[in-house]
Amino acid sequence: MDSILSHVTARQGEIVALIRRMVECESPSDSPAAVDRFVELVADMVAPMAAVKTHSGGGRFGRHLTAEFHLPGKKKNGQILALGHSDTVWPMGTLALMPFRESDARLWGPGVLDMKSGLAFFLFAVRVLYDLDTPVPSRVLLQLNSDEEVGSESSRPLTEKNAQRSKAVLVLEPGTGLEGKLKTARKGVGDFTITVRGRASHAGVDFTAGASAVLELARQIVRVAEFTNLRRGLTVNPGVIQGGTRSNVVAAEASAVVDIRVLRLKDAPALERKFRALKPVDKRCRIEVTGGLNRPPMERSPGIASLFRTAQKVGRELGVDLEESLTGGGSDGNFTAALGIPTLDGLGGVGEGAHAVNESILIDRIADRTALIAKLLASL
Ligand SMILES: [Zn+2]
Repeated sequence: MDSILSHVTARQGEIVALIRRMVECESPSDSPAAVDRFVELVADMVAPMAAVKTHSGGGRFGRHLTAEFHLPGKKKNGQILALGHSDTVWPMGTLALMPFRESDARLWGPGVLDMKSGLAFFLFAVRVLYDLDTPVPSRVLLQLNSDEEVGSESSRPLTEKNAQRSKAVLVLEPGTGLEGKLKTARKGVGDFTITVRGRASHAGVDFTAGASAVLELARQIVRVAEFTNLRRGLTVNPGVIQGGTRSNVVAAEASAVVDIRVLRLKDAPALERKFRALKPVDKRCRIEVTGGLNRPPMERSPGIASLFRTAQKVGRELGVDLEESLTGGGSDGNFTAALGIPTLDGLGGVGEGAHAVNESILIDRIADRTALIAKLLASL
């Protein structure tokens, strides 16, 4: 058996214990104090092995963390950025309803897959390299963002700055499916808000004087939904609508929030133009469109493909046949890949149910994932 894998396997109980501590330290994006407690936990753990800094989340969010590790070996290959997030989508108190538990060969709990297990794997991977005195030819910088689940507005500049100084980015988000496929492409994500302003009137007394914003919005929703082009991997989802006040009033105002996803960055400007060019069918209504793309797509570049092949080779040494995947979901890897930095995503937990009540990871994939990260760091 691979020496790193056997070392990790022997310490699997400690990894599970760390995942438990992390899951039981709740950290929803909208609770900066809770996220800071989680960041503190990570900072304390890495302090003996790294130079740790925290960075302001701009008041609305917890602090972002960076840790530059002192790993064995001469540093001659530049820097690797390991990227993750400390926040989860689960509100404070979720633990009472879905406590951490170990059953059916899985670990369960809020944030266990997205992405506390990925963070635990990484921290253990680094620890193993340290303990076994394995030479790591590149500097290793970990960055944990506190606002990833809500768009990464405050962390994006730090992510981009650190990515620009790195030759590769390893993203500790969960793998795809129960096979734990790595992610070599992600769609770009954005949203538009369409607001229609019409004219209110009494639906019985003065029907024709009214210009219904609800009716107009309905027409616009059908129009934008037709912008979807599945062949190009482009989707438009009117996910939220609201409008009107009472059924007997011709509605004065209505709005929709529409999610967009693109596979290729070059498709975004044309799509944005189509949204901005929306014209009312009822000329008495006015349409206002705001928003746009907020995460560029992670396009599978030759650099990404080559990083994946390296991971595949390492995987074979561990007896794992790694596959790659494309996902419609975004991560902070979208930003780093868009800068042209080879980015490999999905290195974290293997399981299912991210953002859902069945969130869980497979226990028998803890060791190979941790070893994969360790060996990747040692070989890049
Ligand atoms: Zn995530």
